[in-house]
Amino acid sequence: MTVYNFSAGPAVLPNEVLRQAAAEMTDWHGSGMSVMEMSHRGEEFMAIHAAALRDFRELLAVPENYKILFLQGGGLGENAIVPMNLLGRKPQPAVVDFVQTGSWSTKSLKEARKYCTVNIAASSEASKFTTIPPRASWQLTPDAAYVHVCTNETIDGVEYQFTPDVGEVPLVADMSSHILARQVDVSKYGVIFGGAQKNIGPAGLTVVVVREDLIGHALPICPSAFDWKIVAENNSMYNTPPTYSIYIAGLVFQWLKRQGGVAAMEQRNIAKAALLYEYLDSTGFYQSRVDVAHRSRMNVPFFLHDETLNTAFLAGAKERGLLQLKGHKSVGGMRASIYNAMPIEGVQALIAYLKEFEAHHG
Ligand SMILES: *Cc1c(COP(=O)(O)O)cnc(C)c1O
Repeated sequence: MTVYNFSAGPAVLPNEVLRQAAAEMTDWHGSGMSVMEMSHRGEEFMAIHAAALRDFRELLAVPENYKILFLQGGGLGENAIVPMNLLGRKPQPAVVDFVQTGSWSTKSLKEARKYCTVNIAASSEASKFTTIPPRASWQLTPDAAYVHVCTNETIDGVEYQFTPDVGEVPLVADMSSHILARQVDVSKYGVIFGGAQKNIGPAGLTVVVVREDLIGHALPICPSAFDWKIVAENNSMYNTPPTYSIYIAGLVFQWLKRQGGVAAMEQRNIAKAALLYEYLDSTGFYQSRVDVAHRSRMNVPFFLHDETLNTAFLAGAKERGLLQLKGHKSVGGMRASIYNAMPIEGVQALIAYLKEFEAHHG
């Protein structure tokens, strides 16, 4: 049976990548070693690491005046690491503007309160995080240290379809769940970060893209292993990096290049999301509650009109190889995550099941 995994993260990886990793598991390219067993300072791993950095730069078209850092700590770790690295540019206590659009930006602003004064410049909490507040409504602080946005809210299923202009203040974006799924003008951002386990590779790797002038302002309390200046000076090898996660991410980057890169991936993601939302909108049996203009192409929360059928729906889905469709507990219902590695056939199989289930229970 073909299995399609709709997990929000850790999430589906390309089959080709998993097969290649399996073939290379015990002996990488005749080295006699698994990548897991290699010194991070040896020539074999250094080559893997350099290729992954190069391919990521090419895929996201990262300009030369930005550093790409491979860290650990995940998206949540960055919620502390970002303020510790950026606040030193301002007198303390500094103000940071947050745009609150769902669970992840809410976690980010709560963590930031340990380090700075948080201004919630705009919030969609009153709508239960089903929309993105228009840029014109944001109440920004003129001398803020930075503006934080989460450009794809994985749990709530809202995604920015625009790049906010915040003037000279650095724009910091948590792109954990849609990085490399759409083209991004990196030059509009001061910092972009993301945990790998949604759209890049296995958990353990965190990617940070940071404009060079924003490096070197860490607060004294910032741990050295998370001080972007120290990490950048050591080419992300200050301490042992998550070597196997970097290796798999590197294979995913090569796979993405074979698919035609991010531009081609974005077109496929648009097509996959359109197919699913069109079906959800065409029936009263299921419902998407997110503002049409801000629906995520990656994470599609939806509800059965009759929620007493949820358990039967999930059991039937599992029988058909459609896995991990249960919604996040804070939102309820269902959620289909359709990242880069989800083929359109997976979305078609899900829609076929949605129809079948409705025919039996509608
Ligand atoms: C998953 C996720 C995180 C948290 O990542 P961890 O690696 O668990 O720390 C943060 N932000 C967004 C948008 C996410 O989707």
